Amino acid sequence: MKRSEVPVVQTWDLGLIYKSREEAWQSAERIKELAEKAEQVYRGKLKDAKSIVNCLHLYEQMHELASRVSAFFSLNQETDYNNAENVFNANKAENLITDCLTKTSFIESEILEAETNVIEEAVRQGGSVACYLKKLLRKKPHILHPEAEKVLAGLGSFMSTPYNVYNQAKLADMRFDDFTVNGKTYPLGYALFEDSYEYEQDTAVRRAAFRCFSDKIRQYENVTASAYNAYVCRDKRMADLRGFDSVFDYLLFDENVTRDLYDRQIDVIMEKLAPHMRKYAALLQRVHGLDTMTYADLKLSVDPGYDPKVTMEEAEQYIAGGLAVMGDDYVAMIHQAFRERWIDYATNDGKSTGGFCETPYGVPAAFILLSWQSRMSDMVTLAHELGHAGHFRECNAAQGYFDTLVPMYYVEAPSTINELLLAGYLERQNSAPRFRRWVLGNMIGNTYYHNFVTHLLEAAYQREVYRIVDKGGSVQAETLSAIYRDVLKQFWGESVELTDGAELTWMRQPHYYMGLYSYTYSAGLTIATEVSGQILKEGERAAENWKKALRAGSTVTPVEFARMAGVDITTDRALLDTIETIGSMIDEMCTLTEEIGF
Ligand SMILES: [Zn+2]
Repeated sequence: MKRSEVPVVQTWDLGLIYKSREEAWQSAERIKELAEKAEQVYRGKLKDAKSIVNCLHLYEQMHELASRVSAFFSLNQETDYNNAENVFNANKAENLITDCLTKTSFIESEILEAETNVIEEAVRQGGSVACYLKKLLRKKPHILHPEAEKVLAGLGSFMSTPYNVYNQAKLADMRFDDFTVNGKTYPLGYALFEDSYEYEQDTAVRRAAFRCFSDKIRQYENVTASAYNAYVCRDKRMADLRGFDSVFDYLLFDENVTRDLYDRQIDVIMEKLAPHMRKYAALLQRVHGLDTMTYADLKLSVDPGYDPKVTMEEAEQYIAGGLAVMGDDYVAMIHQAFRERWIDYATNDGKSTGGFCETPYGVPAAFILLSWQSRMSDMVTLAHELGHAGHFRECNAAQGYFDTLVPMYYVEAPSTINELLLAGYLERQNSAPRFRRWVLGNMIGNTYYHNFVTHLLEAAYQREVYRIVDKGGSVQAETLSAIYRDVLKQFWGESVELTDGAELTWMRQPHYYMGLYSYTYSAGLTIATEVSGQILKEGERAAENWKKALRAGSTVTPVEFARMAGVDITTDRALLDTIETIGSMIDEMCTLTEEIGF
């Protein structure tokens, strides 16, 4: 389908941000005015606490508007990369914002030149910008000369070129040919493969789709590798420029996460989760009667014959039921999301793949993108994205703009907790063995597979790549494929045959262009598993506690956030607990399979 053919009901209403494009451009003009005002009034004058605080409030206002303008134009682009006007406008808005950030880059540099006691006084007077100032003080040793900072800010928009190249290659240039199995022709596309064929029950079709998909993306392996190499080398260069000991320290700095926490997440899961997942692969092989278990078969669900379709209306009811424990206000938000068209669920040509949620600051709505195929897994994705919406609704209302820039480490916790609560709710609806196995299968096959396996393997791969660039090396398509294959081999051992094309998984996720995002999925899910256990046991009291932690936004570190929610992540206990939970779910699925007999 072309974007223009999509029914309005399946699209999101960006009118909730701005009524018209004109209104959005007016807002963009206002950002420019604020940037000019900041420059005229405060440049060279940020020497006392009062000026610093007043200037930062102006800067805060500028960022709030930028968040809305950028969302308005970029979200429009995400739904149709084929529309040249959308792409033009998104670029224009991005450039305008970059200009304003360049103009105001003196603010941070000048504040950092002020005496420490002046900054500390500003922290005391700061109100909504106090936390921002505290973080700035922490950054002080890594800030460059003001002119150097200006140059870097000016180059800001080019910094995202690798990601843009990746997206253009993947979403605009790549054209997939149809493929044929037993005389029948099937269409192929990026989203179609990832959202549909990977789950296809017909083994011949599923494997043929995998082969054709891999052959096509392989034609783009060099351009993709070169974009990716530019991206990781950029990180390394920035780490050196800013005086970090390693690229890892640089990437983990803003998150306030130690190297230990990062390494532990990857090492423990690679070792301790692998045996459980191999057992899961064997179970899939058995129930599907496959001679060999290949990489192209891993996304199969345990009982696809039992996989009921779900309509958008049913999804709303299920999700509202599953999340009722989060309180009336939370349920009201869910209904509002459907009623006010926060969700873009059409499947059209040129639309971004996967799912995400964006909640611009100061807008009483969130924007959720997904490709709806009426599967239970789509409903789970939707509950997931609504978790992000619920998180930012809480912290946007409670905190100033700067304190809503939540660390990646726990940004996925509120979303995955919703998946678990929904699964718990579904389990209580029906105690028949087949239904129970199907719910567990959804949890393992979607929630845990995606967050603990897919993203974890990416994280393990990514760590190897950054180790290479940290030593001054660079990476090419061949290296990347070899690293990926090794990681897969280490995790799956002999239980899964690594079909040709498996090694190209490094080309598939946008997450590789978002720092160390990948590893945080399992970190967030570790917190989510522990907290959802508490909520299912204690009900509303635990839910209120959780919402309180969400409201803290980025005023706390990941360790403090987890503690507020009642979880200690300074040791490996929570992680081992979560892995045990996953293991016991897989064991139960095996037992239920014995009972069911197929
Ligand atoms: Zn998410």
